[in-house]
Amino acid sequence: MTILVVVEHDRGSLAAATLEAMAAARRVAADLATDVSALTLGAAADAVASVLAEHGADTVHQVHHDLLADYGPEAWGEAVAQAVRALQPAAVVACGTDRGNEVMAQAAARLGAALVVNCNTIEVSAAGDATAQWTITRSRWGGSLLERCTLVAPVKLLTVTHHVFEASTSPGAGSVLPLPVELEAWLARTVVAERVERAAGVTLSTAPLVVGGGRGVGSAEGFASLEELAGVLGGVVGCSRAVTNNGWRNHTDQVGQTGTRIAPDLYMACGISGAIQHWVGAMASKQILAINTDPEANMVTKADYAVIGDLHAVVPAITNEIRRRRAQA
Ligand SMILES: Cc1cc2nc3c(=O)[nH]c(=O)nc-3n(C[C@H](O)[C@H](O)[C@H](O)COP(=O)(O)OP(=O)(O)OC[C@H]3O[C@@H](n4cnc5c(N)ncnc54)[C@H](O)[C@@H]3O)c2cc1C
Repeated sequence: MTILVVVEHDRGSLAAATLEAMAAARRVAADLATDVSALTLGAAADAVASVLAEHGADTVHQVHHDLLADYGPEAWGEAVAQAVRALQPAAVVACGTDRGNEVMAQAAARLGAALVVNCNTIEVSAAGDATAQWTITRSRWGGSLLERCTLVAPVKLLTVTHHVFEASTSPGAGSVLPLPVELEAWLARTVVAERVERAAGVTLSTAPLVVGGGRGVGSAEGFASLEELAGVLGGVVGCSRAVTNNGWRNHTDQVGQTGTRIAPDLYMACGISGAIQHWVGAMASKQILAINTDPEANMVTKADYAVIGDLHAVVPAITNEIRRRRAQA
């Protein structure tokens, strides 16, 4: 009765989020005194077996099939469902990314099984006991409320909220086993058909520093000073929905419930009021600096640090001061 982790990857490039799912799975496996297995879909992911072993996989089940050459939610979901039938795990865990939740929903529908998405804590009452009670806290409404629930199901399908469980190493045996699946051609009707490369560098969800701009920036052109600051600090620029609604920036830059969840070491929120829908995407930031003219703005009251002032003066001043100090160093 293993705990099975569904490995997220893109043509063999491992998603860091998978290692969060591995950490969560190890915790549950310890409660149940069982082991952790990983499931990789597509031959391109074979190479990540050693990383999975370093993060606690005792067995890595590798599925090879022509339809798994690239991401497709239906083929992936069907492959996961077949793996669950074959391996009979106690639970299946993935990270609650867009892909993680999509694949697990596909698998759950095919299995007629219960799926609990975006879990923050998973407590199992009695070690090794098949009647153990599973108590789960999960994020609802984009993280604006937490729900405590009990899961009763023969096989538990779970996704863990992105950025809640911290990835860590813990060596597992890492035995590699092939797992055959049968996939019908029609499952390939939804596949990734086109990829648009980001300009360069780190992504919004993984950047260690994000400079976010809101309506207070005032225009698309106003983001130049935020780009400059992010460039000096090796970060990326994010924004609020007011900005994307105004067409000042692309939706790929949006932070929040209907955008990207970020977890940088520092989030510099400039001219952003901190509405709940924005906050849920930013709250995993380790430190927040708010720059706002309104001392009562939500973002200011929730931030670790705040500068009350006009961002058009404050942001260039920070950039210039960093440059000045670096020149002196
Ligand atoms: C279903 C739903 C989903 C949503 N999803 C998201 C989401 O994913 N992400 C998101 O961001 N929003 C989302 N929203 C919208 C959200 O409710 C807010 O409307 C939005 O976040 C506000 O953006 P803002 O903070 O930039 O603008 P505002 O709320 O207008 O705030 C602007 C801030 O800038 C400050 N300011 C003005 N001028 C300056 C200046 N010169 N210098 C410094 N500060 C200044 C003001 O004091 C104010 O605090 C969603 C809403 C709904 C209903």
